[in-house]
Amino acid sequence: GSQEYDYDLLIIGCGVGGHGAALHAVECGLKVAIVEGHEVGGTCVNRGCVPSKALLAASNEVRKLRNDHHLKTLGIQLAGTSTFDRQAIADHATNLASNVKGNLQRSLESLGVTILRGQAKLTGPHSISYGLPGRVDVGGSATAKDIIIATGSVPFVPGGIEVDGKTVFTSDHALRMEWLPQWIAIIGSGYIGLEFSDVYTALGSEVTFVEAMPNIMPGFDREIAKLAQRLLIQSRPIDFHTNVIASKVTPGVPGVKPVKIELTDFTTKEVVDELEVDACLVATGRAPYTNGLNLGSVGVSTDRRGFVPVNDKMQVLDSSGKAVPHLYCIGDANGKYMLAHAASAHGIAAVETICERPRVVNHLAVPAACFTHPEVSFVGLTEDAAREKAEKEGWVDKLGVSKTYYKANSKSLAELESDGMAKMMYRKDTGEIIGVHMMGLHSADNIHEFSNAMNMGLTLRDLKFNVHAHPTVAEVNEELIRHAPLENVAAV
Ligand code: FAD
Repeated sequence: GSQEYDYDLLIIGCGVGGHGAALHAVECGLKVAIVEGHEVGGTCVNRGCVPSKALLAASNEVRKLRNDHHLKTLGIQLAGTSTFDRQAIADHATNLASNVKGNLQRSLESLGVTILRGQAKLTGPHSISYGLPGRVDVGGSATAKDIIIATGSVPFVPGGIEVDGKTVFTSDHALRMEWLPQWIAIIGSGYIGLEFSDVYTALGSEVTFVEAMPNIMPGFDREIAKLAQRLLIQSRPIDFHTNVIASKVTPGVPGVKPVKIELTDFTTKEVVDELEVDACLVATGRAPYTNGLNLGSVGVSTDRRGFVPVNDKMQVLDSSGKAVPHLYCIGDANGKYMLAHAASAHGIAAVETICERPRVVNHLAVPAACFTHPEVSFVGLTEDAAREKAEKEGWVDKLGVSKTYYKANSKSLAELESDGMAKMMYRKDTGEIIGVHMMGLHSADNIHEFSNAMNMGLTLRDLKFNVHAHPTVAEVNEELIRHAPLENVAAV
């Protein structure tokens, strides 16, 4: 450890990113402090991944118990009518979040990480001050050799949308499940909006999506997104308005006055419709939480959207594009890949770099998932992006696309969950995996065979002889690999 500073490493923000960095830094023998201005655990634990998965688990049980076909096929007869307790479901989510938060805090404390309370700002290259408005008992200043910014993000609300937190709200409010609207509009069909649609429809609400792009699920593979749209419309009270913007949203009063949503055509910019719904969830993405950090004191400014610019070792870049010594930014705040596990991977890379073993994060091998039923997951490029890359690099004749359907998977059939497909883009000559996309049972777990392979630089030639337990959904992977013929197989 260094003598001239209070700590070797100071981390601003105790979300998944900050927590992951702290654990790894302790393992590397560093003296660590972490400053948190709100709740230990950050978005993921308190207002994100964790409580949302609790709601999804509970609501999916309700969906199964209300699905006559499902019950009949499995030979189940329920005595009396099935019902659910909204408050109990909400409590499950809150209790889970507070358990996970407790575990996280204890793990940090038991490893000797100092947790400082307060909102922090930089006061120089090696120093911060922290405090809470109106709280003279909290706060102080601290110095460290290295500093990691891990301040995360907050819901982004576009102009024209008035959030009242009761009838028009973001995920922060929706996760508390204070009431169940009959009809809810969800603005934005990304993974957060889709996951909430899964919860709401299972519990009896109707959902109308408003999506600015021509396709739902922007960023996902187009074919998978189309299939998802078709499956959702078939099986749930969901409809989609695409290529339209919610240009104006006015809150209502539950049971008295509807929420009004003005819809504007994305292309012509003309007002095309007005919706009157009971509630509106704004799921239009997340904005970095970086104002107030006083980045100017170290010669750094955020980009137009507020993200802190970094290189692939998570070192913060100054206005001339040079890495600022000893300053890092990880997770949602750098905008590179706004998912929990990416934030921890960033944290580990930053700490490794601090320990003079520079490490980069290969985002093309980081999996992503949407926890609807069935789940959607992917790693690497979409088919469109793969084709574009192959054309640019002159190997489009070598681009292979392998596909398989969950209808051919025994485990999915046994569980009556055989909707979905998987596809893989790969190079026929080298066996390199370019991207894998799945929609089907447990696909968020199942993607890891491919993300691990990509991370380790394995090719289809290596994976060809992997054995998968039968019957499992992992056999979907085996099918994908089997349907991916390579050139020069004899050379294997
Ligand atoms: P955060 O978790 O946002 O943590 C940042 C922390 O920093 C906060 O606690 C904040 O209070 C603190 N902070 C900010 N500024 C300061 C300051 N100046 N001083 C001190 N402290 C400060 N991701 C997944 O991978 N899987 C999922 O299933 C998933 N589901 C999600 C569901 C929802 C509804 C939402 C909203 C998000 C979900 N995410 C999911 C995304 C995931 O939550 C984020 O990617 C992740 O939390 C980012 O971690 P982070 O450490 O960068 O930031």
